[in-house]
Amino acid sequence: MRTQVGIVGGGPEGLLLARLLGRAGIECIALERRTPEYLRARIRAGLLEQGTVDILTQAGVGDRLARERLIHDGLEIAFDGKRHRIDLKALSGKVVTIYGQAEVQKDLMDAHDAMGTEIVYEADDVSLHGLTSDTPRLRYSKGGQTHEITCDFIAGCDGFHGVSRQAIPQDVVRIYERVYPFGWLGMLSDTTPVNHELIYTNHERGFALCTMRSLTRSRYYLQVSADEDVDDWSDDRFWTELRRRIPADAAAVLQTGPSLEKSVAPLRSFVAEPLRYGRLFLAGDSAHIVPPTGAKGLNLAVTDVRFLTEALVAFYKSGQSDLLDGYSDRCLARVWKAQRFSWWMTNLTHRFPEALPFERRAQGAELAYLVGSKAAQTALAENYVGLPLG
Ligand SMILES: Cc1cc2nc3c(=O)[nH]c(=O)nc-3n(C[C@H](O)[C@H](O)[C@H](O)COP(=O)(O)OP(=O)(O)OC[C@H]3O[C@@H](n4cnc5c(N)ncnc54)[C@H](O)[C@@H]3O)c2cc1C
Repeated sequence: MRTQVGIVGGGPEGLLLARLLGRAGIECIALERRTPEYLRARIRAGLLEQGTVDILTQAGVGDRLARERLIHDGLEIAFDGKRHRIDLKALSGKVVTIYGQAEVQKDLMDAHDAMGTEIVYEADDVSLHGLTSDTPRLRYSKGGQTHEITCDFIAGCDGFHGVSRQAIPQDVVRIYERVYPFGWLGMLSDTTPVNHELIYTNHERGFALCTMRSLTRSRYYLQVSADEDVDDWSDDRFWTELRRRIPADAAAVLQTGPSLEKSVAPLRSFVAEPLRYGRLFLAGDSAHIVPPTGAKGLNLAVTDVRFLTEALVAFYKSGQSDLLDGYSDRCLARVWKAQRFSWWMTNLTHRFPEALPFERRAQGAELAYLVGSKAAQTALAENYVGLPLG
C-alpha cells in the first residue's frame, strides 16, 4: 500500500489532521488500535479555545458544535470559602467554549465516514520504519495478517503511550518532565451543573473543580493521591467530599445523582523535543502532556495539527519545505507557554503534600494578589482563553 501521509492514532488529533489533509487533496491513511465504539465513548477534555473552535469549523465539523456548545465569559476561583469571578471576556475580549472531547471525536468520525477516509480501526502492533529515508513505512497487523504502508511522511498522533515517540532514537530526543504528587478523580453525571461557569477551588482537603459538558451534564474533579484506587470511591463518598471542599453556597445547591463514569488521571508536565525526526512529525500528547488544570491539552494538540497541516500543504502545493523544517520550533514556542501556564495554575490551586508552611502562605498571598489585581487577572485571562498563534 502507498499513501502520502501515514497517521498513527485516530484520536481527535489524528482524525482532525486526516480531515484537513483530505480536504486539501492530500492522501492519508490513519491507523488506530481501538474500536470506533470505544473512541466514541471515551471521556476526556471539555473546554475549547476559540482557535480550536475556528479550526474545527474550517474542517467542516463545526455545525453541531455551534448548535450545542456553551459559551463561558468567565470562571471562578474559590479559596477560604469565598468565590471570586474572573471576567475572561472583559479582560481578554475572548470567551471559551464547553463542548466535550467525546463529541468532537464523534463529529470527526461521522465526517470521515461520509468522506470515505481510510481509517484502519483495531490496527495491532503498529511499528515505524525507515524514518530518515524518503520512504518511511508503517507496519501493522489486523485479522492475523501483516500489512505495510509506504508513505512520504508519518504523523505521530498516538498520544502519550503511543509508539511514535518511542521510534525516535533516545540520544536525539530531550525529555523535560514534572510528575505531580497527586491525581484527579473525575466523575461525570447527568445532573444540573452547580454553577453556570467553572469553579476552581483551593481547599485544605485538596483541589476541586466544578465543570460541565452541557446544561444537564456535570463533570467534577477532586484532587486525590496519585495511586488512588477508583473502586474505593462510591458515588456517595465522592459527593460528600466534593461538598466539603467547595464553598458553602455552592455546596448548598449541589445536585447529586448516579455517576456515568469515574476515573483517576495522574498529573504530569512533559515535553519531548524536537517534534521531528527525519520524516516523522510528532503532534499532541505524543510529544507533550500538561496537567489538565489550564484545560490546554486538547487545544495544544489542535494547534500542532494546524501547523503540521500548513506545512504539509505548502510542501505538496508549492514544493516548499521551510514550514516542515520550522514545525518543531513553531509548536514548541507555544507548547512551553501553555506548559508554564498549566504548571502555574496547578501550583496556585492544589495542595502539595510536601509544601513547607512558607510555601503554603506564599500560595495564599498569590491567590489574594490574583483576586485583587486587574493586571494579574488579565494575565490569567489571556492565557486561559488561548494565546495568539504567533
Ligand atoms: C483521562 C484524561 C483526562 C483528560 N482531561 C482533559 C481535560 O479536562 N482538559 C484538557 O484540555 N485535556 C484533557 N486531557 C488531555 C486531552 O484529552 C489530550 O490532550 C487529547 O486527547 C490529545 O489528543 P491526541 O489525539 O494527541 O491524543 P489521544 O487522545 O491520546 O489519542 C491518541 C490515539 O492514538 C491511539 N493509539 C495509541 N497508541 C497507538 C498505537 N500503538 N497504534 C495505533 N493507535 C494508537 C489511541 O487509542 C488514541 O485514540 C485528558 C487526558 C486524559 C488521558
